[in-house]
Amino acid sequence: MTDFIKILDNPTKDKQALIRMLNCNADEQKLLFAKAENIRKSTISNNVYGRALIELSNICSKDCYYCGIRKSNNSIDRYALDIDAIKESIDIAIASKIGSIAIQSGELNSPTFVESISEIVRYIKQKCPEIGITLSCGEQTAKTYRKWKRLGAERYLLRIETSNKELYYNYHPNDKSHNFEKRLQCLQYIKDAGYQTGTGVMVGLPKQDFEDLADDLIFMRDMEIHMCGMGPFIPCKGTPMENAKSNFDSVFEMTLRMIACLRIIMPDINIVSSTAMETINPKGRELAIKAGANVIMPNLNPSTHRKKYSLYNKKPTNEITNAKEVIDSCAKAIPSGYILSLGKKGNSLKWERLMV
Ligand code: SF4
Repeated sequence: MTDFIKILDNPTKDKQALIRMLNCNADEQKLLFAKAENIRKSTISNNVYGRALIELSNICSKDCYYCGIRKSNNSIDRYALDIDAIKESIDIAIASKIGSIAIQSGELNSPTFVESISEIVRYIKQKCPEIGITLSCGEQTAKTYRKWKRLGAERYLLRIETSNKELYYNYHPNDKSHNFEKRLQCLQYIKDAGYQTGTGVMVGLPKQDFEDLADDLIFMRDMEIHMCGMGPFIPCKGTPMENAKSNFDSVFEMTLRMIACLRIIMPDINIVSSTAMETINPKGRELAIKAGANVIMPNLNPSTHRKKYSLYNKKPTNEITNAKEVIDSCAKAIPSGYILSLGKKGNSLKWERLMV
């Protein structure tokens, strides 16, 4: 325990220290979460930022083994929201004053897809120039990233899923469309284009150990990301990993520890409290906020489509149909002592400091 307290008191975290923080006992875990919560409150306050999430389409050109909308999963209904439905969700988000919209989609690269994202970004900026826009639309060319940035998108999230190349190829086909180096290159393109850059990893993958997770944290620190979206591995029906063994309780706790460790080593970034946490534990999003997360993402898709964007099993599908329900949905995920920040983009403080 004494060694653990010393590690928590030392702000420079090397790999062994991170492994020790992740491999803690129940008493030490309380100290870890308390430290992360203190750092978070003293650095970025007790504000929680919302991102209204719109999942445009579950059509994806990729085949990640864990993902329910992978291209080879023939058992799901594919959809692409029409522009009117997208605009309706955008209008609800704007009316709610949530401050930011996140556009997510299965990965496509066609000119039609690129133009459809451009049209959405243009629409949002024309309707509400002050609202923040986050895109999460996969690997694109440097030119496409620059184009969307120029049109007004400010943030881009591209999860690396694991920084261990060997593990990466355990969970992604080793082919032209799943290339670890290309993914790293895309993250660099995103940074170079001037986005607030986000990445993240999956926690609890089979064969992943403490060392891998510590390396993931170091990867994010060294990449100097501005935001992070991490989530637990939840086996999904209809995928090659549907029968993978997963101890949900320990994966859940480990994800909380990853959030806490990341907050300790990167105090001023934005960290998402993911919906996947709620899938494992009804209080999952609140607990993630208490462990250091500061962003929540209410889902504005029509509920009929939301079920179809099933990256993992048992994703929550509560319907949001108006501005009040956006705020109510956020409020449900916020523990006492924290405040939903309205009318602000909720930029990463790390990024804002760089802009001064
Ligand atoms: S994880 Fe992303 S890129 Fe991979 S199949 Fe799913 S939606 Fe497509």
